[in-house]
Amino acid sequence: MNSHKIIMNVNATPSAVVNLRCPHCHHVGAFHGLPNCNDLSWSEPPIPPVVNQINHFAAGVRRCPNVECHSLVQVVLQSGKLSESFPPEVIDFDSTNLPTDILTSLEEAIKAHAAGCFRACALMVRRVLEELCDDKKATGGDLKQRLAALSTSVVVPKELLDAADELRLLGNDAAHISAKNYDDIGTEQATLAIELAKELLKAVYQYASLVDRLKALKKP
Ligand SMILES: [Zn+2]
Repeated sequence: MNSHKIIMNVNATPSAVVNLRCPHCHHVGAFHGLPNCNDLSWSEPPIPPVVNQINHFAAGVRRCPNVECHSLVQVVLQSGKLSESFPPEVIDFDSTNLPTDILTSLEEAIKAHAAGCFRACALMVRRVLEELCDDKKATGGDLKQRLAALSTSVVVPKELLDAADELRLLGNDAAHISAKNYDDIGTEQATLAIELAKELLKAVYQYASLVDRLKALKKP
């Protein structure tokens, strides 16, 4: 909140239940407030061009319902809906069978995304893709060629790789990617980059694991 805003009607109000993906354990749950702990609520005047709508806010603490987590999260609600949380919500991902280096880079990309640092996120996604190609010995002159080489050795939908060309962060030349490639990367590009990376990682590391587990069901 900006300090110059006029704040009205500051009160203590009972804490509403909030649906949230836990920033700590990544499960989605209905987060309740703590016993005997109210939210702080307040109102702010309309923000032009809307002239007739008072904004109602509330801020307080919620607890993760997962019994193995029970982490505390600070939330800000606007008109009863979640506006912000701290730590921020993070994109969900499956870490099954991912090599440690790739998992570390992916986690860093997701943390950067949650913090609104979209260019940093894009750089880390690019690193995830490069580490993936390193691990699978997919070679080529640039990242696009390396991803294309990857598709010859693992099951990756061709349409997915073709569409990935639209992502600016892939750049034209891995060796000479310039800073301006990242200048206008916002939430949409960064979100799509993470989703693409997740799908590729799933194809390379997780389908095989599922296939092995299914095969293990076969009776001797
Ligand atoms: Zn949790």
